[in-house]
Amino acid sequence: QLTRGRRPPWLRVKAPDSPKFRELRGLFRGKHLHTVCEEALCPNIGECWGRGTATFLLMGDTCTRSCGFCKIKTGRPGPLDPDEPRRVAESVRAMGLQHAVLTSVNRDEQADGGAWVFAESIYWIRKLVPGCTVEVLIPDFKGDWAALQTVMDAQPEILNHNTETVPRLYRTVRPQAKYARSMELLRRAKAMDPSTLTKSGIMVGLGETWEEILQVMDDLRANDVDIMTIGQYLQPSRFHLPIVRYYTPDEFARLKEEGERRGFKWVESGPLVRSSYHADGQAHLALQA
Ligand code: SF4
Ligand code: SF4
Repeated sequence: QLTRGRRPPWLRVKAPDSPKFRELRGLFRGKHLHTVCEEALCPNIGECWGRGTATFLLMGDTCTRSCGFCKIKTGRPGPLDPDEPRRVAESVRAMGLQHAVLTSVNRDEQADGGAWVFAESIYWIRKLVPGCTVEVLIPDFKGDWAALQTVMDAQPEILNHNTETVPRLYRTVRPQAKYARSMELLRRAKAMDPSTLTKSGIMVGLGETWEEILQVMDDLRANDVDIMTIGQYLQPSRFHLPIVRYYTPDEFARLKEEGERRGFKWVESGPLVRSSYHADGQAHLALQA
């Protein structure tokens, strides 16, 4: 059976170790910042950090939710750090980024879900790193559209919110989320600022059918989403959801075609694709928009 034993060859990656990798690790430690690359055990860390890119994880390393696929720890997080946005911007400057990607844990205990941290981080990046485009990968804020407006008012070039999986699997994959709410968030974000590109992604290999994936594509396009990412789910530990199936590189190529046929401006589809994988390669779309 394909899901037993060693990973297929197209999912094997080199151990992360390069001067650039060590430099970034030192930078983030020094600034007391977290990255999703480390916290979620992303397989691309060697490649991305080796190229000098990373994705910041705002609002701490502890999440109030417990998604079945995610390595980030669940619990009661500490208070938000009002100085974090400034340190994020300083790090973006130190890294020389032209496209910064920011995400966060869910902070459902906060009145606005911590939306202001995203907004402040964007403002600080604008101030310290002029010309740098910003992509935010945001939580659903439990459907608090004023919180979404707070983020949109800061005018990120790309607003990303992941669908993660097909609606039938939400109960185990994203138990505290709702498919319709995530679609509504994407629709509202576009309506609030049509010049912002919207983006969403799914993992495959959790037990969805091919037709269900195509339906998600249709739903995203019906809500005007511009960019889609599709990658293989990898089980971060034996306590997380099992891998039901490995998709082949050829199947990922077919999914890319299906997406492009539906009118996405960009589809990033491949075994190791994550929401923020090669995100800098999509920034030009924002500059054209
Ligand atoms: Fe980090 Fe994203 Fe690259 Fe993974 S794909 S290492 S999360 S920037
Ligand atoms: Fe992980 Fe995000 Fe789910 Fe929290 S909400 S457990 S950070 S995927």
